[in-house]
Amino acid sequence: MNIVDNYNRLRSSIPKYVKIVVAAKTRTIDEIREVIFAGASIIGENYVQEARKVQQELGNGTWHLIGHLQRNKVKDAVKIFDMIGTVDSIALVKEIDTRCASIGKIMPVLIEINSGSEPQKSGVLPENTLPLIRETALLQNIKIMGLMTMGPLSGNPESARPYFIETRKIFNEIKALNIPNVELQYLSMGMTNSYKVAIEEGSNMIRLGTAIFGERKS
Ligand SMILES: *Cc1c(COP(=O)(O)O)cnc(C)c1O
Repeated sequence: MNIVDNYNRLRSSIPKYVKIVVAAKTRTIDEIREVIFAGASIIGENYVQEARKVQQELGNGTWHLIGHLQRNKVKDAVKIFDMIGTVDSIALVKEIDTRCASIGKIMPVLIEINSGSEPQKSGVLPENTLPLIRETALLQNIKIMGLMTMGPLSGNPESARPYFIETRKIFNEIKALNIPNVELQYLSMGMTNSYKVAIEEGSNMIRLGTAIFGERKS
């Protein structure tokens, strides 16, 4: 399993306008170093603690939080991430805004949509997305940069397609409203098993772990 080859093969087969976020969870520092060496620039981390450790070792890069963020971790998260990609409630948004205000930072965020409307899943429900965005847009220290969805997880990428279509529809509708302080630029959809379908349905930011590093052991 050669990480550099994997990354290069993926990068050259995926359209240039599509950003690749490296999903680094469970990977070693050396593995992450290799993919950065191959040219990857955006590292996605699921946990604040883990991200801090990796960042201390590897330094520069662009760091995205792709895992669920708890309110009591926001204070640390806003210091180390360049983007928070899983914002899904007004309570979380307000906490991010407050913490960013105190360190003089404007945090780019993606709003995570629970496109399958699954109970227990993170993400804002499709019908609540616009109200959340309108409220967030009023805050000074947050900048909405796009939308993200996981979609219901299943082995079959085709079963994710309707949820990607639904999310793109919401993306286009909200973009057309031209809400001040909302810059819908990124549509983050697709992982190793679904990124091709996601790109067909309008994704311009995919999150890849297994395709780069191989199967996770844990
Ligand atoms: C792990 C993870 C990914 C990548 O998953 P793979 O199937 O290994 O590509 C993408 N997004 C999130 C939020 C993840 O936690």
